[in-house]
Amino acid sequence: MTNRFIESSFCQEDVTFEVPLRPQTLQEFSGQEQVCDRLDVFIGAAKERKETLGHCLFSGPPGLGKTTLANIIAKTMGTNLVVTSGPAIEKAGDLAGVLTNLQTGDVLFIDEIHRLNRTIEEYLYPAMEDFQLDLMIDSGPSARSVQVKLNRFTLVGATTKVGSLTAPLRSRFPFSCRLNYYSPEVLQIILERTSRILNFTIDQDGLLEIARRSRGTPRIANNLLRWVRDYCQMRAGGKATKEVVHQALELLAIDHKGLDEMDKKILQTMIDHHNGGPVGLTTIAVAVGEEKNTIEEVYEPYLILNGFIRRTPRGREVTDLAYQHLDIPRN
Ligand code: ADP
Repeated sequence: MTNRFIESSFCQEDVTFEVPLRPQTLQEFSGQEQVCDRLDVFIGAAKERKETLGHCLFSGPPGLGKTTLANIIAKTMGTNLVVTSGPAIEKAGDLAGVLTNLQTGDVLFIDEIHRLNRTIEEYLYPAMEDFQLDLMIDSGPSARSVQVKLNRFTLVGATTKVGSLTAPLRSRFPFSCRLNYYSPEVLQIILERTSRILNFTIDQDGLLEIARRSRGTPRIANNLLRWVRDYCQMRAGGKATKEVVHQALELLAIDHKGLDEMDKKILQTMIDHHNGGPVGLTTIAVAVGEEKNTIEEVYEPYLILNGFIRRTPRGREVTDLAYQHLDIPRN
């Protein structure tokens, strides 16, 4: 078996695991009450007027439900969902190809919309506002612009870095919401549903323990539940209790705050090599061997949320709380 095959079979498994777990309606979508409430009004009004829904922008860390909401919007509106991402649209032709294929009312989901290049963004503005594309044909003196009419569509953008979006693009979304981390209690409800779908019996204390260690993120919670199920099968005679969850997550080196090996490596590196900071993001990324973007968008927000890291004008600093958590004396 080649590595390539292993990789693709893992991806396949992830898709088959995630798809049945995705809530199909706003009622099934737990937490984020304010976002759901607003969406309910926004969608309800458009449906009643038989109009195409306005463009929506969802921001927030990965795994909080942005793609799921795009699915729910398309399903509730009774239209198709077309999925692409910012980095996948490299040329104006790519964008034109996607847009001209959309039927009236279709939902175009652009993940990582902050990674669209600026030229493509310029093409997107008239498409979003007037449902037309202004394409440049030829160059030099014979250059001319051709206008292509588009069907009315709904653009749903998702971003982990709303600050990186240009103001003109952001202002073209009439509906814009930020998704926040979930509380352990809401994650427990999500996990209960997942365990039902997976046909896996686990007690409420066990679910809450997983929820507490899931970094406020449904995707992580679901993945940990899947791990606990495997652990139970192999090491605990199939019985899932809080104690078994504890053992299973210990094996993954996930502590009671949900910090994993990389979180601890980041804190430890800052303490050991930079005396707790301030230290620049690039230095941290190189030291721990991780992408700068991943540190900034995945690890850092959770460390900041827990009060383990602080951002200062001179760089990132480790807080006293992190020293206490890692049981390292501060000198
Ligand atoms: P994002 O697009 O923000 O990275 P996704 O929408 O792909 O996140 O969500 C990741 C997984 O978490 C999905 O498989 C979905 O089943 C689950 N999920 C996310 N939000 C919720 C929620 N509010 N309720 C139930 N499950 C959720």
